[in-house]
Amino acid sequence: MYGSGNQPIIVLKEGTERSKDKEAQFNNIAAAKAVADAIRSTLGPKGMDKMLVDTIGDVIVTNDGVTILKEIDVQHPAAKMVVEVAKTQDDECGDGTTSAVVLAGELLKQSESLIDSNVHPTVITNGFKLASAKAAEVLKEISIKTDDKIVKKVAITALTGKSVGGEGDYLSDIVIKAAKAVIDEGKVNVDNIKIEKKVGGVIKDTYMVEGIVIDKQRIHPRMPKKVENAKIALIAVPLEIKKTEVDAQISIHDPASMAAFLAEEESTLKAMVDTIKKTGANVVMCQKGVDDLVQHYMAKQDIMCCRRLKQTDLEALAKATGGSIVGNIAELSSKDLGKAKLVEEKAVGAEDMTFVTGCSNPKAVSIVIRGGTEHVMDEVERAMNDAIRVVGVAMEDGKVVAGAGAPEIELALRLSEYASTVGGREQLAIEAFSKAMEIIPWTISENAGIDSIDSIIKLKAAHEKKGKDSAYYGLNLETGEAADMLKLNVVEPLRVKTQAISSATEVANMILRIDDVIASRRAPPMNPMGDPNMGGPGMGGMGGMM
Ligand code: ADP
Ligand code: MG
Repeated sequence: MYGSGNQPIIVLKEGTERSKDKEAQFNNIAAAKAVADAIRSTLGPKGMDKMLVDTIGDVIVTNDGVTILKEIDVQHPAAKMVVEVAKTQDDECGDGTTSAVVLAGELLKQSESLIDSNVHPTVITNGFKLASAKAAEVLKEISIKTDDKIVKKVAITALTGKSVGGEGDYLSDIVIKAAKAVIDEGKVNVDNIKIEKKVGGVIKDTYMVEGIVIDKQRIHPRMPKKVENAKIALIAVPLEIKKTEVDAQISIHDPASMAAFLAEEESTLKAMVDTIKKTGANVVMCQKGVDDLVQHYMAKQDIMCCRRLKQTDLEALAKATGGSIVGNIAELSSKDLGKAKLVEEKAVGAEDMTFVTGCSNPKAVSIVIRGGTEHVMDEVERAMNDAIRVVGVAMEDGKVVAGAGAPEIELALRLSEYASTVGGREQLAIEAFSKAMEIIPWTISENAGIDSIDSIIKLKAAHEKKGKDSAYYGLNLETGEAADMLKLNVVEPLRVKTQAISSATEVANMILRIDDVIASRRAPPMNPMGDPNMGGPGMGGMGGMM
């Protein structure tokens, strides 16, 4: 009986949505393009910012691709894959996130017409793979070795275009100093750079401290403000009498036992301080609360103490001062103490912070960011974080390329030459890939209000000259002319470009290989990015939405 009738066999649950073949491909491509369109207006130094308001009304103003994509709630599965590209790019390089996503969108856009003319997706993905490998080769070939001057250019490039006002040059020096301070066996340990923000002043009041800055003050006015040759106890438990676990009641009947009880408590607390003092500690950094009496005894013993530190602060202190975090006061010994030449409470704007400097491990620094408002400081922090990562990558790899569309135009030209040597149908895909490269200079110039077609023509003309420096010609956004970007200080790490191209290719290929989308739940009606059925060329409207 089974399967013998003419009735169709139903395998999928009711309500399951399915789109197949070209329909599925075009839907996915449209969704991916919508993500790219959503952020392309932020690309480049003249890109615009976006204001993001989350469900509880918090506001972020940024033009950082990955920050935007992390904040907006993307629903479509293919769109989610593209968002992942931005995250990978951010993890690997800390920069180039917008470029990677815009490139992925463009690769898919270029493949649409190939699919339309019945080039099989496998042929396209093969061609893209070949092109991506060739692109990596070419990029390496046109890359430049770094030196101090070039690293400075990398920092400036990373900082311009973020909303750090005209302070890119000033901040770049801090970024480089910080990155150099934490370099260890060729690796730049960005985790060892701690960033603190204190509202007030202007961006230019931002500075670096060799050591750890903690946004806490000493807890008792009679404690010393400044301790030289500090021996620091790092404590993760409260310096208080433990509350009983169960609700116990203690009944005291006569005044004498009341006094005895209080004296008992007092002596327990005093014993804590004695234990600490005996180890030789003169500074206590406590993650939890500190009893008033303990504060009093510590002040009497000239011990400086901060309480309620963030766990990350305590960990940073442990790393920098060589101390270990202790969870039981009774076990605290002199071996656990961290060492620093100076612990000092100092004013930062209207408030005080605690500075731990001259640490036994000098490869730990802090940056104190100042700025008029929280939002300004947040964007400065994001920009500095990016710049530190990018400078770190440039120092680690020792290789950079010019920016401002220079490498993309070189790639467009070289890949189109390469396409003709490959031949066959893959050639079409490589040509599409080569064309897609142009989206970067195209968008940068569009965002600067310069005619994109003119720009591409000028750039291509400059690169075709084949001089020694022709590969460094990118778009001068002030004049709209092609110019040597090494001279204009627009330089990016090689890894940022290579990674952007390889992850954009990967996600484009992954999306192209899908020819069947089976969605088990009917998605509620939602924005154009979220609805899998709203595909088609009309869908690129996301940019206008934001
Ligand atoms: P991403 O998230 O991809 O890093 P950005 O908004 O930082 O996006 O833009 C990066 C692009 O802008 C790169 O292609 C870079 O070469 C280019 N760029 C950076 N600074 C300049 C500049 N001063 N002039 C022209 N292009 C620049
Ligand atoms: Mg960038």
